[in-house]
Amino acid sequence: MGDWRKNIRTVEPYVPGEQPKYEDMIKLNTNENPYPPAPGVEKVLKSMETGDFRLYPKPDARELVDALAAEYGVPAEQVFVGVGSDDVLGMAFLTCFCGDKEILFPDITYSFYPVWADLFRIPYKRPALDENFRIKKEDYFVPNGGIVIANPNAPTSIALPLADIEEIVKHNPDSVVIIDEAYVDFGGESALPLVEKYDNLLVVQTFSKSRSMAGMRIGFAIGNRELIDAMYAVRNSYNSYTMNMPSILCGVEAVKDRAYFDKTRTAIMETREDTAKKLTALGFTVLPSATNFLFAAHESVPAEELFAMLREKHIYVRYFKQPGIQNYLRITIGTPEQMERFVAEVEQYLADRI
Ligand SMILES: *Cc1c(COP(=O)(O)O)cnc(C)c1O
Repeated sequence: MGDWRKNIRTVEPYVPGEQPKYEDMIKLNTNENPYPPAPGVEKVLKSMETGDFRLYPKPDARELVDALAAEYGVPAEQVFVGVGSDDVLGMAFLTCFCGDKEILFPDITYSFYPVWADLFRIPYKRPALDENFRIKKEDYFVPNGGIVIANPNAPTSIALPLADIEEIVKHNPDSVVIIDEAYVDFGGESALPLVEKYDNLLVVQTFSKSRSMAGMRIGFAIGNRELIDAMYAVRNSYNSYTMNMPSILCGVEAVKDRAYFDKTRTAIMETREDTAKKLTALGFTVLPSATNFLFAAHESVPAEELFAMLREKHIYVRYFKQPGIQNYLRITIGTPEQMERFVAEVEQYLADRI
């Protein structure tokens, strides 16, 4: 037997939420948007000819970069696009966290961060959230090799005020601070206005949640030009054609339709507040959410039990068997009808159990 195994990279991969396929299911487990993408997306997709696929796409994804630059009021040179924000964040880790010092991110946050850090052999430290699941900004005022903060945070759903984010960025002129704004369109304050003021800030967003396009895989980052250039240099040293033609063109349509974007994200925020109220009445502690999901714990029934009960009924929510949050369920906000059904099942179960 040869010894090739010693040359193999071994990693502990990220585990995404399950993607079951049932006709009758209510899928509230991976923070997808219950509404379809903007109508222009379907139109542009239908107008495509398979012959168009013969050629490589534009390596700089020009149309999409220009649409984002126009929408967010920055020069195109300050926009990086990638295959979902997971791709963008991975590239950002690879590009920005090359020092010797530990990078910092909270102990409870998006579980992909430690996976990239391990993959790229970046040392890291994880400051604990406080007893109310809030990020303590002072924990990030210490020497470090970089910082990544999801704001609003996942899976807690809690947003940090922009003033706190600014303090963190200001305290760290010697490292890059990445703000992962996957959920910012549901009530958070974006750090984008700070990009002009701080050259060490990189803001990352995605089309997967607020633009209903998880299946298209589009994410982007906005930062100062030098940072964005460095990211493209790394990306182009690995794979220069990450963005496929349909996602470039569909992405443009999604960005252009601001009215639809506002309508759907407002609907989700309203459904969220309504659902939170109902869950609170049923004995849940619901953390204040600025996202398209709720993080909730029941006063007497274990989260794992509720998770299993709902799963039996093909209602999928997310449960993390992790110390500190093992009594919480992460519930994505669906349509009002889906949330009514979800609440009704929980209510019925609680009533029968006593
Ligand atoms: C969903 C999510 C992402 C990435 O989603 P993509 O589909 O890859 O864009 C990144 N960060 C957080 C915190 C998320 O919840």
